[in-house]
Amino acid sequence: MATIKPIEARSVHQIQSGQVIIDICSVVKELVENSLDAGAKSIDVRFKNHGLDSIEVHDNGGGIAPEDYETIALKHYTSKLSAYDDLNCLRTFGFRGEALSSLCALSKFHIITARTVDGAKGTKLDFETSGKLKSTSIVACQKGTIVVVENLFHNLPVRRRELEKNIKREYGKVLSVLHAYACISTEVRFAASNQMPKGKKAIVFSTNSNLTTKENIANVYGAKTLFALIPLNLQFEMDSGTGLVRTTRKSSTQEDSTSRKVKILGHISRPVVGEGRQTPDRQMFFVNSRPCSLPQVAKAFNEAYKSYNITQSPFIFADLKLDTNAYDVNVSPDKRTILLHDQTTLLETLKASLLELFASHDQSVPQSQL
Ligand code: ADP
Ligand code: MG
Repeated sequence: MATIKPIEARSVHQIQSGQVIIDICSVVKELVENSLDAGAKSIDVRFKNHGLDSIEVHDNGGGIAPEDYETIALKHYTSKLSAYDDLNCLRTFGFRGEALSSLCALSKFHIITARTVDGAKGTKLDFETSGKLKSTSIVACQKGTIVVVENLFHNLPVRRRELEKNIKREYGKVLSVLHAYACISTEVRFAASNQMPKGKKAIVFSTNSNLTTKENIANVYGAKTLFALIPLNLQFEMDSGTGLVRTTRKSSTQEDSTSRKVKILGHISRPVVGEGRQTPDRQMFFVNSRPCSLPQVAKAFNEAYKSYNITQSPFIFADLKLDTNAYDVNVSPDKRTILLHDQTTLLETLKASLLELFASHDQSVPQSQL
């Protein structure tokens, strides 16, 4: 008798969903990105019991068209990408069509959406765990979309228990992720709140639209943060054939087809002892304004800073402006990992440029040379 047999479709869906939605951070990241992709100018994230009971994301974006209700939460159904080649010119955060379908498999999930301003009437969409539309009903709703995720991982007992055990730490990580979106999105108003069972709703932070990234940082972390920051504006050119690098800060060079321009814009702590932080918890990295985790880039930043301030870590807000063919966002199902081409060269140049920048802002002798 054959021992190899296919896994039941329902289990496959659950297994794969667990790779897309791995924690509360993934839920918030996916839903906020959907709101940004829908053109929202206001995004309100509401937690109940730090997200254990529910996570709601309210936006004022374009809403969902009635003809899409049936397919919206089906796996690999997306309005954003139709062929693999499109990945190279991706302008949206989403492209895999997996987030909503995964949330149906792992939580009690529903959506309320309205396409028009008039009437304040919208549609509530309920789904089966497979992502199939179960029912629709008419409800009161402003223009935009509300996505509600309740009881995350209720059907994965081990993960649910882990989540409950580590909820304070998880919640801290979620806020860091939200801070990154709020700081980089200069056109969008962000707000986050948390309500504990029997407790009052507490506003966690809020920003406004049409502010600079610096003003957003002040709103999120407090105006005092700004005093210790210097502007980050590094530019270099990498030769994609040889990996050779030249800085273009001072002289302008001729465009050539094999060279790749890299710009790193943002804000960073001055390399002054006493002006950093005890923990590296305020460090945000972006690739073309897309918040992402870049551990190697973070390491290069921290190492360069440590040459001047060995006891503390810098505040970092760094947006890497790269050619779209210089990185790949499709490395893992949760889209957190980004593959940077020519990373070794990039990191070496980055460190050298940072040391140069810090030297111009510091009168004292670098501690590494003492
Ligand atoms: P993806 O973002 O990769 O397309 P998702 O499962 O996250 O996959 O979303 C599926 C589709 O649902 C999106 O392509 C989009 O058309 C629609 N959608 C999701 N969230 C929203 C929202 N907040 N507003 C409008 N449309 C949305
Ligand atoms: Mg999405």
